[in-house]
Amino acid sequence: GCGVDAGVTRREELAANLADVERRIAAACSAAGRERAEVTLVAITKTWPASDAALLRDLGVTDLGENRDQEAAAKAREVTGVRWHFVGQLQTNKAASVARYADVVHAVDREHLVTALSAGAVRAGRVLEALVQVSLDGDPHRGGATPDLVPQLADLVEQAEGLRLGGVMAVAPLGLDPAVAFARLAEVAAALRVQHPGATTVSAGMSGDLEAAVAAGATHVRVGTAILGP
Ligand SMILES: *Cc1c(COP(=O)(O)O)cnc(C)c1O
Repeated sequence: GCGVDAGVTRREELAANLADVERRIAAACSAAGRERAEVTLVAITKTWPASDAALLRDLGVTDLGENRDQEAAAKAREVTGVRWHFVGQLQTNKAASVARYADVVHAVDREHLVTALSAGAVRAGRVLEALVQVSLDGDPHRGGATPDLVPQLADLVEQAEGLRLGGVMAVAPLGLDPAVAFARLAEVAAALRVQHPGATTVSAGMSGDLEAAVAAGATHVRVGTAILGP
């Protein structure tokens, strides 16, 4: 609903939601015996105005995420002083654009995308952190590389100019217990770190399953509706 009608400003609404999410992350860290500082909150502002993204930045959120290039490019131009994450499926022909503003690209799942992002980053004179998206149910339609393909994709990212291999990312598949899904992701992440010790990022968990993700070792949670609304 409209916060102004209820006498509550959007800033107050976002601050309250943010505090709830902060409490959830802190409780999940505590339950898992982890430090709060081990988990970065990425607020996903897709479909919400740039003014909301700016309010979140002013409330102390350091990392913001989007999943469509046009919308993301406009917000990244307007809202500076944060790290911008591109979390959606990325078409190869949008890679050059995303390379101009994104700091982290979460859904790298095929060779062509590595090549396109690398070329875009070089042209933009930037270095992007790239996460290999892992498919946890073997359904290629929803994006992500199957676990057996992760090592070679990671090697390709590591060798690509303008890219730095950050780690892995996943979305818990529908119908699979998030705890099971994120445990699988944790195994893939651990195997990757043997070859690439610097690839420490594990991006997992959203509004509905961030506790399961933190319990399984996520370093980044991507939270949209719990902060911004449905
Ligand atoms: C939208 C989105 C999120 C946030 O989801 P919520 O359920 O709104 O928290 C996280 N990750 C990705 C890839 C998304 O597209």
